[in-house]
Amino acid sequence: MYNPKSTIATEFISDSEIRSTMEYARENSGNLALIEDILAKAARAKGLTHREAALLLECNDPEVTGRIYTLANEIKHRFYGNRIVMFAPLYLSNYCVNGCVYCPYHAKNKNIRRKKLTQDEIRAEVMALQDMGHKRLALEAGEHPLKNPIEYILESIETIYSIRHKNGAIRRVNVNIAATTVENYRRLRDAGIGTYILFQETYNKTNYEALHPTGPKSDYAWHTEAMDRAMQGGIDDVGIGVLFGLETYRYDFIGLLMHAEHLEATYGVGPHTISVPRLCPADDVDTADFKNAVPDDIFYKIVAITRIAVPYTGMIISTRESAKNRERLLELGISQISGGSRTSVGGYVSDEAPEENSAQFDISDHRSLDEVVGWLLDLGHIPSFCTACYREGRTGDRFMSLLKSGQISNCCLPNALLTLKEYIRDYASPATREKGEAMIKRLLADVPNERVRDRAADYLSKIENGERDFRF
Ligand code: SAM
Repeated sequence: MYNPKSTIATEFISDSEIRSTMEYARENSGNLALIEDILAKAARAKGLTHREAALLLECNDPEVTGRIYTLANEIKHRFYGNRIVMFAPLYLSNYCVNGCVYCPYHAKNKNIRRKKLTQDEIRAEVMALQDMGHKRLALEAGEHPLKNPIEYILESIETIYSIRHKNGAIRRVNVNIAATTVENYRRLRDAGIGTYILFQETYNKTNYEALHPTGPKSDYAWHTEAMDRAMQGGIDDVGIGVLFGLETYRYDFIGLLMHAEHLEATYGVGPHTISVPRLCPADDVDTADFKNAVPDDIFYKIVAITRIAVPYTGMIISTRESAKNRERLLELGISQISGGSRTSVGGYVSDEAPEENSAQFDISDHRSLDEVVGWLLDLGHIPSFCTACYREGRTGDRFMSLLKSGQISNCCLPNALLTLKEYIRDYASPATREKGEAMIKRLLADVPNERVRDRAADYLSKIENGERDFRF
């Protein structure tokens, strides 16, 4: 039985509700009057239900698609302006006891080199990331209770936050580790993590069980209910996502939105972020073995409709996507991207020889962070290294209500400009610096509140003179 407020996986992600939604979408895909109503509702930026979103996804009318794209871009601007938050993944360990058939970390894979960073190696990786200009990381690790216990993750977080190298600092550590207990989520919260991220991979229980034949992750309910436990453990910023390509996109798109609805209905806070990874080639993983690859044009629609269905959520795209695709997706609602990423364990300090491969998947965007920042500036986006909200306690429902009310723009824009200024003073190439300075000059005038604007101008000149870490 479908119940968005239940905390039982098969009730808030109801297979029969997903299937009847798919049928409803198919039956109504030509009902332009209904679609018109849904587009009008979307334009009010209050979000859409999974049924309404599924119907838009099913509609093949090019005019409707064009309007969805325009709306997605408008809504992204309404909530996030032209800011794009920057981050990088940091792989701590690829030891893993699970059997996920799409992931090269699976326990039976003997080809990849297994590595686990020591605290000294983490320090070296973090300094390399700081030297690129990163302030925000996403920690990644395989699931291995003995090699990567929670104590190792907690110690690593403490190490990361403690490092001050030149002007560098990691100010927000998001964590993408396997589903765990309420008690462990509490410990992660106490360690000061930003968002707890966990991809569902697929919401289809039968397929999920086939794709995860062995290991703790094979327990569908344990994995699907992880965000509930995280919330119960006091983490109020959680990030969800599916790995597109494992299951039919229709099924997982609906499941993803139902999960967002469940979090909102049960805890009063929807997902802080939604990620949209697509399956990539990797060691021991041939994407040809997976029959549900999502073509680019459908993927664009998925991103755009997710944006209008969940207007307030941060939407993340990684270097799994090519520069060309990322450029397109930035116009369709994406608000966070990674740059200069390495998916191997220890990859920021040294490039691996091919026979030493420890990477999780092949990336498509190989540009440096400076190149990504310069490219964003060329496209008119503001690369933002801001981490202020969570450091000011603006998380969970406090963050969401500020965002929904539009009040947040008085701090986000100046914060983005301040952190961009830090980046261009400390790390940018001359060409990127020039573009960044021009953007800061141009956009400072757009800060709505005069007092905030004056203070921002003062902070900018202090950064110019060597001071760091101002925020609103
Ligand atoms: N080990 C953690 C867990 O159990 O959920 C998560 C960390 S894993 C390093 C991060 C994510 O990478 C996975 O959740 C999965 O969605 C994604 N991933 C795994 N194999 C992939 C592949 N071949 N292509 C693209 N993404 C992949």
